[in-house]
Amino acid sequence: MDNQYLLLTPGPLSTSRTVREAMLKDWCTWDDDYNKEIVEVIRSQLVSLATKQAGYTSVLMQGSGTASVEATIGSVIPQDGKLLVVNNGAYGERIGQIAQYLNIAHHIIELGEVAQPSAQQVVDILDSDPAITHVAMVHCETTTGMLNPVAAVCDVVKSRNKIMILDAMSSFGGIPLDTGELGIDFMISSANKCIQGVPGFGFVIAKQSELEKCQGVARSLSLDLFDQWQCMEKNHGKWRFTSPTHTVRAFHQAMIELNDEGGVDARYQRYSSNQHILVEGMEKLGFKCLLDKSLHSPIITSFYSPEHPEYDFKKFYSVLKENGFVIYPGKVSNADCFRIGNIGDVHNDDMHRLINAIASAMYWA
Ligand SMILES: *Cc1c(COP(=O)(O)O)cnc(C)c1O
Repeated sequence: MDNQYLLLTPGPLSTSRTVREAMLKDWCTWDDDYNKEIVEVIRSQLVSLATKQAGYTSVLMQGSGTASVEATIGSVIPQDGKLLVVNNGAYGERIGQIAQYLNIAHHIIELGEVAQPSAQQVVDILDSDPAITHVAMVHCETTTGMLNPVAAVCDVVKSRNKIMILDAMSSFGGIPLDTGELGIDFMISSANKCIQGVPGFGFVIAKQSELEKCQGVARSLSLDLFDQWQCMEKNHGKWRFTSPTHTVRAFHQAMIELNDEGGVDARYQRYSSNQHILVEGMEKLGFKCLLDKSLHSPIITSFYSPEHPEYDFKKFYSVLKENGFVIYPGKVSNADCFRIGNIGDVHNDDMHRLINAIASAMYWA
């Protein structure tokens, strides 16, 4: 029996049967067949995927994606550092919360959820507050599906010699981006988004010369990015604490499948065409997008809920689920929306089938 439904969410998402089958074996974690041949291979593949430039390394970290964000924020900003957070959605907000919890000095640019940040806003704050040492932003804000202007923001951050941290959780592997060329110092993502693995760990692509400065900075033992990196470097891929072996093995398979598909460019094409089919089909059925199309990402799209008095998200959701599709509730605070993701092992014909299923599920129309 295969999956009963397709997950049209921002993760965990639908994976291939072969990725799931890769989890059918148990692995010990102290031999080369796991550490050198799986973990180290993944680490170097991730660096190659992230940049063509030299001087980058990767660290894998147990937990959901947020653990990797928290590990980075908590491990790279020194006691006398200050973080500027660009916030235009729940994930930008979360970075601010992490800084708050960890007692890290920070300033938040609050944009609301439907505005895109501009490089000018960032540079204005950097110039007025010289205490700022680090800037953090989300690439694809999964709250709305908005793609933030990463190149322009990285440009100004670099022009002021600040450290750039990018939460590329929901875009890495699905949208072409060269971490080194953009001057990103720490880029964070996780196993269960565009690489199409299963949940269980995240990873950080780091500029090695910057990571080397982070010894003794961490505010948490288990989320010490520097120590985790040192352990993996010195022991050929050994994790400090229990590693999520099955997830890691599945990820290794997912990386092979990304390569077989034609790499990030091919995956970007598939996701983009999925998203176009989705938006075109939904508009034909009378749905309206929350964001202007120029702000859309090829990852996930927010739609306004129908205003019909009989419309109820729960009911709509259940009918669709019975027909094989799981959609996602909205996350925007001041607009009634729902979201449909199009990443994962999801193809153009699935999106056409989805549109047909939605047309038949519109019990209120
Ligand atoms: C998914 C996601 C995260 C991490 O979420 P977890 O639930 O901790 O895996 C962080 N940032 C963005 C932009 C995301 O899409």
